[in-house]
Amino acid sequence: MLQQARQRTEPWDIIIVGGGATGAGVAVDAATRGYATLLLEQHDFGKGTSSRSTKLVHGGVRYLEQGNVSLVMEALKERGLLRQNAPHLVSELPFIVPSYSWWEGPFYGIGLKVYQMLSGKYGFGPSQLISKEETLKRLPNVNPEGLTGGVVYYDGQFDDTRLLINLVTTAAEQGATLLNYAKVTSLQKGDDGVLSGLSWQDMETGESHSAQARVIVNATGPFTDAVRHLAEPDAQKMIAPSQGAHIVLDRSFLPGANAIMVPHTSDGRVMFAIPWHGHTLVGTTDTPMKDAPLEPVAMDQEIEFMLETAALYLEKKPTRADILAKSGEGSNTAALSRDHTIHIDKSGLLSIAGGKWTTYRNMAQDCVDQAATLGDLPDKACVTKNLNIHGYQPNASSFGSLAFYGTDALAIKELISKDATLDKALDSELPYVAAEVVWAAREEMARTVEDVLARRTRALFLNSKAAIRMAPRVAALLAQELKQDKTWQVDQVEKFNQVAQGFLVKN
Ligand SMILES: Cc1cc2nc3c(=O)[nH]c(=O)nc-3n(C[C@H](O)[C@H](O)[C@H](O)COP(=O)(O)OP(=O)(O)OC[C@H]3O[C@@H](n4cnc5c(N)ncnc54)[C@H](O)[C@@H]3O)c2cc1C
Repeated sequence: MLQQARQRTEPWDIIIVGGGATGAGVAVDAATRGYATLLLEQHDFGKGTSSRSTKLVHGGVRYLEQGNVSLVMEALKERGLLRQNAPHLVSELPFIVPSYSWWEGPFYGIGLKVYQMLSGKYGFGPSQLISKEETLKRLPNVNPEGLTGGVVYYDGQFDDTRLLINLVTTAAEQGATLLNYAKVTSLQKGDDGVLSGLSWQDMETGESHSAQARVIVNATGPFTDAVRHLAEPDAQKMIAPSQGAHIVLDRSFLPGANAIMVPHTSDGRVMFAIPWHGHTLVGTTDTPMKDAPLEPVAMDQEIEFMLETAALYLEKKPTRADILAKSGEGSNTAALSRDHTIHIDKSGLLSIAGGKWTTYRNMAQDCVDQAATLGDLPDKACVTKNLNIHGYQPNASSFGSLAFYGTDALAIKELISKDATLDKALDSELPYVAAEVVWAAREEMARTVEDVLARRTRALFLNSKAAIRMAPRVAALLAQELKQDKTWQVDQVEKFNQVAQGFLVKN
């Protein structure tokens, strides 16, 4: 990839800045249309918002409540397409809204029926009202005091960074060049004032490189305005950053196969408790924030708020000591709407922001359509509606703890069959084995201990203390693959421990 990026002297058709859901989606779309495509990510793929979502493939019940029907319909359609194209990663999940007063059941029942109807032929399971007994059966740890019943509806669930890595691989298979640890540092204009190329820095070696492009797409999420300012320092802001928070608890707080949705917390937000990778993920929707740090820290009051709200709905109530990991999630909200926004500056820089993980494909289609016009590229139709995403496997659950890899699970098993030591678990509290580290280094461009523990596996997000324990072994395995020495390993473990501190909760 590095060689391809350094050696090309003619202009790329499209250069994408940013390797989150938006950028990777654009890379897949552009490459499958046959455009010469380069994607540059300053850190690791998914380091930003895209590794920190609530893991839902959804239409957004709260947007329906706000009356934004077209946004919900589009997202519900994309939800169905994503399940069709990545069945190894997207699964249907029943959500229960527990009711504690007589009116809640019918009230939310009607709204969620409409939600189901809007999905049309892309529908998931039917929504229905359930009795108090059925609610207790499906949610064994729900607070029974005052419970009158519940409403069930269906949405999708996924693993955000696994999908991201699969999208990066799909784009590469379709001919795109994608680099992590490649930061765009400046944008260059021709005599006509229109962008002609950019400079990027290899963050591992410090070397600077340049590349020419017919169109440059800015897909940098919360950093959108910072990149726009590289071309036009006084461009008006288009992004309002926001932040949400998540905590991860033991599975015993949410046994069974159902999730809980709280449509109205005491401060009017939506909160979810979801079964995820054998744990319980609790998260709220986001709140506005002043600036956009790369490693946002979950706000302490957010954690207290989530614990207090969870305590209202759960019989066994979680405390700070039960939190296995926490994270603050930086996000970008296109200033004008909750929908995605495409903005073209005077310099010709095309910025795409907002939207959500669920709608990444549709956003990419829209973006590449406009980029093709802007860059005067030959007309080519979008083909991603029915494009299988790398790893595609409808029956992946038979791969056990490797199910999320889809067809790649077979290749990982093959590694183990050649070297049985690779089957060794990296920690007793998580399912990850050594072969996954080797696979991540060889096939998925993992360059650091953090890449492996935060985004190729989800150890850091599931159980930060376990991830810290795993770090030295991961460093040793990576060092062998990447031909690094002992000093590198020590440095890697230290750097990882620093990042992991932000995921630990002090009691
Ligand atoms: C709390 C929360 C929960 C959410 N939950 C859901 C959910 O359940 N379902 C859903 O569908 N959506 C959800 N979303 C929305 C979704 O996560 C985002 O819409 C999506 O991840 C945005 O992706 P992105 O690629 O635009 O931005 P990012 O993922 O932030 O990617 C931008 C990338 O650009 C890189 N970058 C920045 N500057 C440069 C530079 N100079 N050079 C190179 N690279 C650069 C960054 O390092 C970063 O990796 C949630 C959002 C939040 C905040």
